[in-house]
Amino acid sequence: MFRKIIASPSPPAESRPREGDLYRTVTTFGKTFELRYGYYDDIDRSGEPDVIYPDFRATPVYTKEGEPFITMMQDACEHFKGKGGRTDDTICAECTHCKRGEEWLGICTCPRNRKL
Ligand code: SF4
Repeated sequence: MFRKIIASPSPPAESRPREGDLYRTVTTFGKTFELRYGYYDDIDRSGEPDVIYPDFRATPVYTKEGEPFITMMQDACEHFKGKGGRTDDTICAECTHCKRGEEWLGICTCPRNRKL
């Protein structure tokens, strides 16, 4: 006699996040951001939505001291400072100017990126 083994069933469809649902409201370095579920690319739409982080390159946001917000996974800029130098795969999290806040958000402390 065979016994069917079901390994860790996925959560019921009604409890899975949907596009537009709120993941978290995060306050860090004096600003509040709403993080919602969605898709970065249309090609991802066959799967479950991800948490969408702000695109600070497209829409910069600054602290009141003029430091730009970044995400940890943002592509490193030309002012990157860290081991091994910058490559196409280097991200802000690897940079000594990166100051991490809540979730994957942070600020860049590089004086050359500061808004005067
Ligand atoms: S933390 Fe700042 S200086 Fe470093 S790579 Fe990111 S944006 Fe550039």
